[in-house]
Amino acid sequence: MIGVLALQGNFQSHLNILEKINLESLQVKSVKDLDRISGLIIPGGESTTMSKLLDNSNFVSEIKEFAKNNPILGSCAGAIIMSRNSFDERVLNLGLLDIEIDRNAYGRQVFSFSDKIQVIDGKNKSLCEVLFIRAPKIISVGNDCSVFALRNDEIIGVRQGKHFAITCHPELMHETKIHEMCFKSN
Ligand code: GLN
Repeated sequence: MIGVLALQGNFQSHLNILEKINLESLQVKSVKDLDRISGLIIPGGESTTMSKLLDNSNFVSEIKEFAKNNPILGSCAGAIIMSRNSFDERVLNLGLLDIEIDRNAYGRQVFSFSDKIQVIDGKNKSLCEVLFIRAPKIISVGNDCSVFALRNDEIIGVRQGKHFAITCHPELMHETKIHEMCFKSN
């Protein structure tokens, strides 16, 4: 069963994708829900708000513990929270991926856009249609990371071990590829 952190943000669209790829899902609202799942999605939303909600419980240490053995996928705000540093003291960084990330790097909500990105799965490359909504930019990538998604030459998706982070929203365009890579063939 795959959990979707359901404190804030667009968790419902990830639940829809999990259903589409026939994976059982659970809304994760409290730490004890982590005991029931074998993978976790940290959705998009507002990373400052999500950080406050995470900080009000002992979620942070428990998610870090969970991450030692189970895959985590973060999209947009989720990627910000998974990063090592997002240069904003209001945001909690779990450091699950050795990346640094710059929040709201494409500008405000009105500068949101859809685009086709290249997804790299081993030797296979495919195109996915995604949305960038007040998206961050990945500005540094550690040696233990590998790139799994590019927008032209720009790195927008990075994996490290079992964990995946992507700066955009494939789930809002009903794309299942990245969820399958993280939770079905990982
Ligand atoms: N700009 C938001 C943040 O910094 C992320 C936006 C999103 O998740 N779509 O948290």
